[in-house]
Amino acid sequence: MRRTLIAGNWKMYKTPSEAVVLAEAVVKRLSAPDGIDVVICPPFTALEAVGKVVVGSRVGLGAQDVHWEKEGAYTGEVSAEMLRDLGCRYVIVGHSERRQHFGETDERVNKKGLAALASGLTPIVCVGETLSEREAGRANEVVAAQVKGALSGWASRDVQFLALAYEPVWAIGTGQTATPSRADEMHAHIRMTIAGLFGADVAKEVRILYGGSVKPENAKELLQQSEIDGALVGGASLDADAFASIVKAAKSS
Ligand code: PEP
Repeated sequence: MRRTLIAGNWKMYKTPSEAVVLAEAVVKRLSAPDGIDVVICPPFTALEAVGKVVVGSRVGLGAQDVHWEKEGAYTGEVSAEMLRDLGCRYVIVGHSERRQHFGETDERVNKKGLAALASGLTPIVCVGETLSEREAGRANEVVAAQVKGALSGWASRDVQFLALAYEPVWAIGTGQTATPSRADEMHAHIRMTIAGLFGADVAKEVRILYGGSVKPENAKELLQQSEIDGALVGGASLDADAFASIVKAAKSS
């Protein structure tokens, strides 16, 4: 049985003091346990302050990126151990904004995911096709290649600790969403790809989140799909009421 996971990606929004206010509002609205895993991913600079707010609550802490080395001369980077020590339990890896603006390759995504895993963090590995790839009829091929690249060298026993997020690039921050049935089909394709690598029993344990303009208004229908195990929420996670409504929609779906 896959536990639903709702993750908020705060991107490069919120100073530490603003982040504390938002985190407090999220924790307040989501105080009752409901069987759904919830995580918020503030910028690096706010992790410590937000960690102090969420500690002891049902809201987990996640980061938005990680470097694959344990330590070293990598100016500006942050290791999985550093995140873990701050109380992080999750880290987003391979977000399309990082692929698009910061040269993130499948190889790096792979190394980051493995480093996260080695430090006991749950990597939320993002995959998704661009509009031109979809229009060229290459969406399935592109996403399968990203999944295979991300999971190269993973041991089957570790795959249960992975969360994947299918985020069609054309749906991120645009207000456009994949139709629930189209998203469900892609999730099934991703699961089949994982099954091809590690077997069906392993694949059925992997949580596959949908991301791309998830809002309170569309969350329920998306989360009702059998292959959609949660959501990675960008814009709407910056509003505590909207984020809490999405978690509630997950509960009732
Ligand atoms: C995201 O940042 O991962 C995302 C899906 O953003 P949005 O919900 O704003 O489309």
